[in-house]
Amino acid sequence: MKLVLLGAPGAGKGTQAQILSDVLGVPMISTGNILRAAVKNGTPVGLRAKAFMDAGELVPDEVIIGVIRERMAEPDCANGYILDAMPRTIAQAEALEDDGIEVETALSIEISDEEIVGRMSGRRVCPDCGATYHILSAPPKTDGKCDKCGAELIIRKDDEAETVRNRLRVYHAETEPLISFYGNRSKLKTVQNQPSIAATTKVVFAALGIAE
Ligand code: AMP
Repeated sequence: MKLVLLGAPGAGKGTQAQILSDVLGVPMISTGNILRAAVKNGTPVGLRAKAFMDAGELVPDEVIIGVIRERMAEPDCANGYILDAMPRTIAQAEALEDDGIEVETALSIEISDEEIVGRMSGRRVCPDCGATYHILSAPPKTDGKCDKCGAELIIRKDDEAETVRNRLRVYHAETEPLISFYGNRSKLKTVQNQPSIAATTKVVFAALGIAE
């Protein structure tokens, strides 16, 4: 399975990518997670990426292409992969093609902008272990505290309302054209986001022909 997940920020790509990765036994590769780790560790890539991420802008293509090239060269990618939110621009998609990194299917998870704004404003993350929560749909057992390590939960800078609006603008301008890019190559499948994670997984599996 060589899969790309497309969709607006907050559409649930990361969650579905993780479920698919567990079920199919292929790695989930999230450029967002790789960049967040780089920022936390203060690497040269992290130092370059931080300001773009905080502002809800895309990190420049050449940085992302370097990051993904390095990751895809790891042996665990040999039998397949699930790319979460990469590519995010036509230039990144073309770079994958130029590098011979195959995409069999691009699955787009569709959701309205209003729903996204509502969703992301409830998102909370653990600054220590990276666990994610939502105050309505996936609350922690104790208000404001991480179930796994007890740290105080925070709102990620890029989940703040103004940043979310900017991320949506960037999504429509830069990433949405990938729907036609993969559609033109007959690789596109589309599902509608559902009210629950389990219901979305159901439509994702059906679109990909995976038995539950
Ligand atoms: P995510 O967790 O996927 O929403 O990514 C968080 C942030 O990392 C984004 O808002 C971008 O600033 C940056 N980022 C992640 N993946 C990419 C990508 N493929 N291209 C450009 N920027 C990215």
